[in-house]
Amino acid sequence: MSLTDPSPQSKEPTVRPLRGEVLVTRRVQFCAAHRLTNPDMPESWNLDKYGLCNNHHWHGHNYILEVSVVGEPDPETGYTFDLGDLKTIIREEIVEKCDHKNFNCDVDFMKGIIPTTENLVIAFWNQLEPRIKHGRLFSVRLRETENNSAEYRGGAGF
Ligand SMILES: [Zn+2]
Repeated sequence: MSLTDPSPQSKEPTVRPLRGEVLVTRRVQFCAAHRLTNPDMPESWNLDKYGLCNNHHWHGHNYILEVSVVGEPDPETGYTFDLGDLKTIIREEIVEKCDHKNFNCDVDFMKGIIPTTENLVIAFWNQLEPRIKHGRLFSVRLRETENNSAEYRGGAGF
């Protein structure tokens, strides 16, 4: 090996990785329609349980989705998880399938599931989790209105 050959093995590392788990979060917004109804129950039960959200002709929400991944920053990049990659995964798995769609009719992975915020965060988790290859998926939080949101952390989770 010549002195002019700067092979990585011959260089002293100049970066100093830090240890510790860090939570990183990506936030996206999308719009979707739904109707809360349990087709196995009578109409009066559905109206009583879901009220306005049982409206036959659907209604929509401006959803805010926050996806958090936890792990140690990579020693080479300093990233727990590249948030650009996380943005792409969320777009491919959730936004492209749900934005301006109807959860009851248009979204394959919601077939047969009552599209409450609670069920949506579990379904979104199931879509996203296999794509998280560094660190681990920590939480999926979905805000349906200014006042109402749901969060899932996988399994028992809390
Ligand atoms: Zn609603």
